[in-house]
Amino acid sequence: MKVRTRFAPSPTGFIHLGNIRSALYPWAFARSQGGEFILRIEDTDLERSSQAAVDVILEGMAWLGLDHDEGPYYQMQRMDRYREVLAQMRAQDLVYPCYMSVAELDALRERQMQAKEKPRYDGTWRPEPGKQLPPVPEGVQPVLRFRNPQGGAVVWEDKVKGRIEISNDELDDLVIARPDGTPTYNFCVVVDDIDMRITHVIRGDDHVNNTPRQINIFRALGQEPPVYAHLPTVLNESGEKMSKRNGAKPVTQFRDEGFLADAVVNYLARLGWSHGDDEIFSRQQFLQWFDLDHLGRSAAQFDEAKLRWVNAQHMKQASDASLADLVAPQLRARGIEPDARLPAICGLFKDRCDTTVVLADWAGKFYRPVEPSRDELAKHLTEAVRPAIGILARMLEGCEWNKDAIGEAIKETLRASGLKMPQLAMPVRVLVLGTAQTPSLDAVLALSERKDVVERLLMGQKPV
Ligand code: GLU
Repeated sequence: MKVRTRFAPSPTGFIHLGNIRSALYPWAFARSQGGEFILRIEDTDLERSSQAAVDVILEGMAWLGLDHDEGPYYQMQRMDRYREVLAQMRAQDLVYPCYMSVAELDALRERQMQAKEKPRYDGTWRPEPGKQLPPVPEGVQPVLRFRNPQGGAVVWEDKVKGRIEISNDELDDLVIARPDGTPTYNFCVVVDDIDMRITHVIRGDDHVNNTPRQINIFRALGQEPPVYAHLPTVLNESGEKMSKRNGAKPVTQFRDEGFLADAVVNYLARLGWSHGDDEIFSRQQFLQWFDLDHLGRSAAQFDEAKLRWVNAQHMKQASDASLADLVAPQLRARGIEPDARLPAICGLFKDRCDTTVVLADWAGKFYRPVEPSRDELAKHLTEAVRPAIGILARMLEGCEWNKDAIGEAIKETLRASGLKMPQLAMPVRVLVLGTAQTPSLDAVLALSERKDVVERLLMGQKPV
């Protein structure tokens, strides 16, 4: 049987990293098993759903490369299908109308709470052989309730949580259609999972309480339920459940802040799953290794510093050209048109950057006049080094423009001036890139334009 998984987000609020992990795992499982991955938007909560939230889901998944084979299906477009199944269930006596009013339900609840019982629907309107139902009140539209099995238990082997057993006596008869006939959440999920032939449901464990109810509906419809894997919550840095309300960023913001999609995939993969001690891996390795048997059981905690570290490792391994592709639009957004030097510039600086935004900051210095701070100039550009800067400027005016020739010019200058490398290199770096901390000087100069370098060095001749 072909593996079919799905991601079924509700487009309420902007999807954050904690949510999108529930897309990554089913996607990875489908891909690693040669299966199919389906995207379904659960948009029945009309008040809280928005197109903007759908857009962030689609954009975030596209960015992370979590491609789907089918969908997006929208639940709001499947209402006719749900009504059709409801009608079929009515005909089979799997559901029944319940006329209990909200006031009656509240009173029932109150009585049960007082008696220290778990509040649950008491089956007043559930037809049984020989049972006399109350008279149908006039002008009341009933809800439809699912005839939950009585006695016995619902049992499933959860791929994360192990065996879970819930007694049917704990489950009351669930409302599966509202008085206006609209189907309710748990029912739609089951109809979808059946119609979409889902074999593995991998989702957040906030849905664990829904699962026994959903399994009973599956069986009532004559279907075997899928395999379930309920993922533990993702906590934010303060140890609370990650949510937009307490500061979680939309997934796409990480793209804008200069994180690589592969690094975020790597980081998220480790947030609830492990492959030995492997921390840094490629997308291909992840897909080779991913299985449902090594999902973590305890809540994972988001740690932005760790994500930055993972991103830095991926940046080191990324090709210069691929980094240049990410940095170029950032430079353009700053009004800078990059040129053929950009890949090499990225290559030279990628080791010291943890995001492509930081890399773009460095790259920008090669295209714009830098303004070294007075403090930096005063600290490094002493009277003693000024003459050497002049010598270097003149040598660079005439030498070949490549790393080796520039390196020679620097050595010559050191010989002529009697200075040590740092004494010369620091002020030159400050003048050329505005900071004393850069990769090796000859490489930096070789990637700069000769005329800019000479101009900036000559500027250093003038008193601060
Ligand atoms: N729509 C649900 C949510 O966003 C997920 C339902 C499911 O995966 O079964 O939490």
